[in-house]
Amino acid sequence: MRNKILAANWKMNLTLPEVELWVKKFNGFNWQSDTKEVRVYPSALFIPMLQNNFSHVGAQNFYYEPSGAFTGELSLEQLSSVGSSSVLIGHSERRELFHEDNAFITQKVKAAADKNLSFILCCGENLAQREGKTHLHFIEQQLKSALSSFDRSKLSLLCIAYEPIWAIGTGLHANAAQITEMHAFIRSLLLELFGSDASSVPILYGGSVNPENAASIFSCPEVAGALVGGASLDPHVFHQLWEQL
Ligand code: PEP
Repeated sequence: MRNKILAANWKMNLTLPEVELWVKKFNGFNWQSDTKEVRVYPSALFIPMLQNNFSHVGAQNFYYEPSGAFTGELSLEQLSSVGSSSVLIGHSERRELFHEDNAFITQKVKAAADKNLSFILCCGENLAQREGKTHLHFIEQQLKSALSSFDRSKLSLLCIAYEPIWAIGTGLHANAAQITEMHAFIRSLLLELFGSDASSVPILYGGSVNPENAASIFSCPEVAGALVGGASLDPHVFHQLWEQL
């Protein structure tokens, strides 16, 4: 059995003094577990200092080329060298605001797999797709494209996060029936693509997870944890999620 995962995506939030305060508050709670793990995805600036406090710190973004004239970008090798254990790929904010298309995301998956670096591959439909009942087809296209050059021998690197766009940062969350349907669909797609070894790939839920809705979300079959934005910015709230996982 793989550990359940509670992952904090801080996005472009928290300054250095705020991160220091976050760590201080975090250390005041009990995070011991044999079955669960915490991951923190801070601004890349803070990876070096946080890797001393957390067993798993990752990066929100990277560029897939190994090095070179790419002003402002960070490579996987650079991130690994300062302690990044994994990366996020395909987050809807990267897709929408920074125009990362399916082909670009496929390159990022290939780069992470080539480097043997764990990654959380995010997928999610928008409201029009959900209402038009094309959400399953859309997720299938997203995942098939992202994983088109991914080899089953690397499955241990893969974690999926289902994050409906209409639920990210909006206060809306998918209900238990919607999450159950989508997570079962993603599992069957992974099994179809990669065979029975894909049964151990964790599938997280993300989208306005908070202490009020966490228990019902975590009780859905195939939900192996959560990728959390807003509710991860306060260690007390984040710990309330941890206790329910
Ligand atoms: C996210 O950033 O991946 C996310 C799910 O954000 P929030 O929890 O704020 O909806």
